[in-house]
Amino acid sequence: MAKMYYNGDANPHYLQGKKVAVVGYGSQGHAHAQNLRDSGVEVVIGLRKGRSWDKAVEDGFKVFTVGEATAQADVVMILLPDELQPKVYKEEIAPNLTNQALMFAHGFNIHFNQIVAPKESDVLLVAPKGPGHLVRRTYAEGAGVPALFAIYQDVTGEARELALAYAHGIGSLRAGGLETTFKEETETDLFGEQAVLCGGLTSLVKAGFETLTEAGYQPELAYFECLHELKLIVDLMYEGGLEGMRYSISDTAQWGDFVSGPRVVNAAVKEEMKAVLKDIQDGKFAKGWILENQANRPEFTAVNENEKQHPIEVVGRELRAMMPFVNKDKKKEVAFSAK
Ligand code: NDP
Ligand code: MG
Ligand code: MG
Repeated sequence: MAKMYYNGDANPHYLQGKKVAVVGYGSQGHAHAQNLRDSGVEVVIGLRKGRSWDKAVEDGFKVFTVGEATAQADVVMILLPDELQPKVYKEEIAPNLTNQALMFAHGFNIHFNQIVAPKESDVLLVAPKGPGHLVRRTYAEGAGVPALFAIYQDVTGEARELALAYAHGIGSLRAGGLETTFKEETETDLFGEQAVLCGGLTSLVKAGFETLTEAGYQPELAYFECLHELKLIVDLMYEGGLEGMRYSISDTAQWGDFVSGPRVVNAAVKEEMKAVLKDIQDGKFAKGWILENQANRPEFTAVNENEKQHPIEVVGRELRAMMPFVNKDKKKEVAFSAK
């Protein structure tokens, strides 16, 4: 088994007396900033004027432009949307770099050469394996979200200690840290969200819903069966793996799992997963996404609009409006993304 790192493996003093600029105050940014502050680390925020700026001020942080925050910091954690990072890096961060450590929560821009860091900077990543709102909530509860960490460039000889101290500061070493590389983090993160967590799951749910409704079953029932109930199943898997989930379901459901699961996600699906992975590994996916952004996202916007009109979304909106308890905080639904 790979070595896991916990609180005792970190030396928090590698962040003491240092100033961390958290650039961006969105899903990850607000969580890193607040957790580090509660861990006794000095934090400033780098932003443009707008919604996040006001929020960070309201939360009691010193907020500066990205350039000003970068210039005064020892460590710069870049928590901007991945597709905006290269431009903001080039225009506002790079001109203010002397020898600050550069940190990321996802390896995309370094791995695919969209950001080329100066030779004088340590370059590392700490990537919590969960949405920012959970990174904050679990920390406040005394727990944490596990994180990956990786060193790309170690100029000071202390980059690894810094990564561990940072992962400790945001609470992730309470749950466990796992060392990786920028390449492995980037490729597995993209594969996970495309094939399983986001793309695989939404397509599975829609295909199940369509199969039932096209056969004449009620859409409301199909929604409960194929989407709503999923949370209960996933919670059981989270707690006890596949075995724990199968312990709780009926033997009939478990037999159906065994005989029909491999028919649905069959060898052809796995071949397609391999093709998806190859597109990630050889840069084809990254190139498409970079070009899509340069073209102002025509396909992203069109597909996003169409998806909102899918019958499972229409019936789901009506049913959730009658179940306010499933989503007490509307903002969380918007903020959640398995980026
Ligand atoms: P968000 O979209 O939630 O937040 C982005 C932040 O950047 C906002 O505060 C936004 O402020 C600010 N911003 C956008 N453009 C600029 C700009 N030009 N200048 C200054 N500030 C700007 O991002 P995420 O937290 O989702 O992602 C950040 C990083 O974390 C990414 O690398 C992502 O891959 C990684 N990550 C994300 C996870 C997640 O669950 N979301 C999980 C693990 C890693 P404004 O309000 O002004 O727009
Ligand atoms: Mg059932
Ligand atoms: Mg991701």
